[in-house]
Amino acid sequence: MRFEGQIAVITGAGSGIGEATAQRMAKEGARVILVGRTKEKLVQAASAIDTRCERKCTDIFSADVTKEEDVKELAEFIKEKYGQIHLLINNAGGSVNSTIKETTLEQWKHVQDVNLTSVFLVTKHLIPFLTEEIGGNRSIVNIASLSGHKAGAQIPHYSAAKAGLINFTKAMAFELAPHGVRVNSVSPGFVETPLTQPGLENERFTKAIEQNTALKRVGKPDEIANVIAFAASEEASYMTGSDLLVDGGWLIV
Ligand code: NAD
Repeated sequence: MRFEGQIAVITGAGSGIGEATAQRMAKEGARVILVGRTKEKLVQAASAIDTRCERKCTDIFSADVTKEEDVKELAEFIKEKYGQIHLLINNAGGSVNSTIKETTLEQWKHVQDVNLTSVFLVTKHLIPFLTEEIGGNRSIVNIASLSGHKAGAQIPHYSAAKAGLINFTKAMAFELAPHGVRVNSVSPGFVETPLTQPGLENERFTKAIEQNTALKRVGKPDEIANVIAFAASEEASYMTGSDLLVDGGWLIV
């Protein structure tokens, strides 16, 4: 029960890694506020979590985290209902497949907005709720990517945004350390989620992924959620500004 009595905000929590992280944290005592664009997905995820933890341990808020008005409304909701939070997991993200030549300026900006600017916006507006008066464990985890460490086919915009996020995490850690807030990033390798589902439906593509991974398989959302929970918890009390690569050994192959 590492998160007993703690409040966690998780963006992009209606599916995949975000949903698995919300489940993990709720199971360990947190009250989790699921944030995402699609209310139905959030309601579904929240109800599955509540059933598993046998108590009301969730709340939901619909917001597009690339829009400052939505993020301000989220901040207002937290102010009115909770007044404080202990944990923030900036997980919302996504990409499109296109080469530099094919990518329009609009697509480029969208990928930066979803993966990088959203983290700036949510952090900027929620920092006041990770207040020093609460004391104890207060922590932010940003979900970056293996693609922030290496190039990948047809995701130049995403690679740039995630590499930016890994260094933005360090800047956040530097600024927030004097206030007792730790900030780290987690970089997943290839994980089976709605984001990667279309690729994984292609058998040749899946085989290539498995061959390029030392552990010879794709990851599961729970395997990333476990590491996110560790980084967020008191167990990682001396870790800030770090990036944890969870890629099944992709980079060593
Ligand atoms: P996913 O599509 O299941 O989850 C992403 C979630 O973010 C979705 O629920 C989506 O609705 C939400 N989202 C997207 N844009 C949003 C916005 N503007 N406002 C609010 N919510 C928004 O995919 P996932 O694989 O679970 O991705 C989670 C994170 O992990 C992402 O940041 C992704 O880049 C990162 N990641 C995933 C993999 C992988 O292989 N699956 C690998 C490396 C990094």
